[in-house]
Amino acid sequence: PAGVSFKTDIVVIGAGQAGLSAAYHLKQAGLAPGRGFVVLDENPAAGGAWQFRWPSLTLSTVNRIHDLPGLAFADTLESRQTSVQASQAVPHYFALYEERFQLPVYRPVQVQSVTSHGERLKISTDRFSLLAQGIINATGTWNAPYVPDIPGRERFQGRQLHTHDYHTAAEFSGQHVVIVGGGISALQLLDEISHVTRTTWVTRQEPWFRSGVFDEEAGRAAVKQVEDRVRQGLSPKSVVSVTGLPFTPAVQAMQERGVLHRLPMFSAITEQGLVWDDGRELQADVILWCTGFRSSLDHLDPLFLREEGGGITLTGRLATQVARDPRIHLVGHGPSASTIGANRAGRAAASELITQLNLPSR
Ligand code: FAD
Repeated sequence: PAGVSFKTDIVVIGAGQAGLSAAYHLKQAGLAPGRGFVVLDENPAAGGAWQFRWPSLTLSTVNRIHDLPGLAFADTLESRQTSVQASQAVPHYFALYEERFQLPVYRPVQVQSVTSHGERLKISTDRFSLLAQGIINATGTWNAPYVPDIPGRERFQGRQLHTHDYHTAAEFSGQHVVIVGGGISALQLLDEISHVTRTTWVTRQEPWFRSGVFDEEAGRAAVKQVEDRVRQGLSPKSVVSVTGLPFTPAVQAMQERGVLHRLPMFSAITEQGLVWDDGRELQADVILWCTGFRSSLDHLDPLFLREEGGGITLTGRLATQVARDPRIHLVGHGPSASTIGANRAGRAAASELITQLNLPSR
């Protein structure tokens, strides 16, 4: 019931890769499920945002999904085929994971706000409220698709959609689709859609394809750049802005098919299409915004964690702890917004929060 309050030590909000990693480490440290910690997730089923990924995103087209601690992803696959949809294989893995480690995940429970309640934090949900000593926030980005505010957007008479709502290329057949965005999702969807219909690719900046190997060291250097930003209270940058785009065989094939030609960002949208500053116009039937996501953090607004510029200053070993309120950690955010980053951040947040709150642990 909505009015009832329960007490626990730590609430993990979100059961994606980041939340499950944190929950695993809280349990390993000896916190009791229920009294010691709970996990709340607003989705009706396991899988974090992976359950919503488009059907053509398969295990062969994802970058890489890292194992959660303690159970290998490969061991949970019914078939080793890479054609398996990520939206099925990952939720299956997460469901087995929650069961294997008996993690106390409550769903569907939507956290609506977190407020300070003296020494404690009050977590209000659509079903009940909780009083906790600390929070590990792992709410991801899927619920916060970002579309830039271009003049005339509401006037366009064609269809506009975001990566978040994409299902399949086939539905665009016979239409001129403008794909906006310079990230990996934009490239993948451009590839798919350009096989069935006419496309135009628009990016704010000249796409930057990285050369050479992208090894662990390069990955660490990229993460460090984003980490430096959040330690200074700046908003995190997109991963591609620091890593560049991979030049894969699929991208090479796109180049050979002539679909990689890119136009700069348009300055306005009309009923029929796009207009550039130099007066150039282009008719379009569909605008597909592959313009990324922001962190889903609205429920934390009552805590005033943001700096004037809009970022949240993070501190701690892996920059997960909120400087303005050390009872709160953000995982899967900024430098840890990847499956490997989420794993590491979950671990660091669990151990730092246990120490910070002086909770008994093994
Ligand atoms: P999520 O998986 O989004 O989980 C967040 C959970 O929080 C959800 O279950 C949601 O229901 C819940 N939640 C949100 N708000 C609330 C609320 N208010 N109350 C309760 N619950 C809430 N990373 C890689 O490493 N490799 C890849 O190949 C890769 N491909 C990607 C492809 C796409 C299209 C996208 C968008 C991202 C990709 N990433 C990839 C990034 C990666 O998916 C995430 O960074 C990583 O999985 C960490 O997820 P998470 O736990 O932070 O979030």
